[in-house]
Amino acid sequence: MSETKDIWKEKLYETTNPLIQVENVDLNYQAAGGQVRALSNINFNIYRGEFVCVLGPSGCGKSTLLKILAGFLPPSSGQVRLEGEEIKGTDWKRGVVFQNPPLFEWYSVRNNINFGPRMRKIAKDQYGPEVEEYIKKVGLEEFADKKVYELSGGMKQRVSIARALVNHPEILLMDEPFGALDAFTRETMQSLIRNIWWQSGKTIFFITHDVEEALLLGSRILVLSRHPGELVEDLEVHFSRKIVEEEVENIQFSEKFYEYREQLLTLIHRQYDH
Ligand code: ADP
Ligand code: MG
Repeated sequence: MSETKDIWKEKLYETTNPLIQVENVDLNYQAAGGQVRALSNINFNIYRGEFVCVLGPSGCGKSTLLKILAGFLPPSSGQVRLEGEEIKGTDWKRGVVFQNPPLFEWYSVRNNINFGPRMRKIAKDQYGPEVEEYIKKVGLEEFADKKVYELSGGMKQRVSIARALVNHPEILLMDEPFGALDAFTRETMQSLIRNIWWQSGKTIFFITHDVEEALLLGSRILVLSRHPGELVEDLEVHFSRKIVEEEVENIQFSEKFYEYREQLLTLIHRQYDH
């Protein structure tokens, strides 16, 4: 009897050596009226090559979690490690992409992208060709000499992605990066980041409040509960890599996609019920 491979059940990632370990993490903010608990007892690992999407209602602590992974915020209790080492402060190893990219508006696209290598004192003959390669990868060849203020929102996000990738981060941390884009540009950017992920094998941690976006991109979806955020779902999904091989429409309008979409929407709506 021949065995057919069921890709929906396939384990894709080597799960013995996590890239990131999040253990028993709580985060309290000091606010005027006292402490505000934003995250409560968060536990998960991230493995190399995963595209982890984080979903959850507004204010549940998604950005807080990303800030902890980026090293902007230390957890109030618990541990966060990258390759076994405690994450402390920011590092080029963790590249961050925000919804409104903090770029140098008066610099050219090229000089925004080579900012990291210059700061890291890498020799120009070394980073130069690499910067050009990333300019190409994100489709900005014709815009390399343009000033950032001349670009559209989608173009700015391309700069922001290239600027993070050129530092060879172990993980790319993205906080609702396409949230402010129009629907068409968002689709183009989703396809760009999906292809970069698939071709480079990069590990990506991606926050979104859009269930479809999470399903169209992620290899895994984490769901946080309403404030204070607790992890309520951790799901492996395979749509993104299927889309690399097939037409997006075949996948996005499949029964399986609807099934997962309903399941996740129900879970998120339930967060508002109590
Ligand atoms: P999300 O990104 O999921 O919308 P955030 O991580 O931004 O949520 O915020 C989680 C919770 O923490 C919210 O209730 C928010 O009001 C609160 N919060 C965020 N930043 C601060 C801060 N600097 N001081 C006090 N409370 C904060
Ligand atoms: Mg947020």
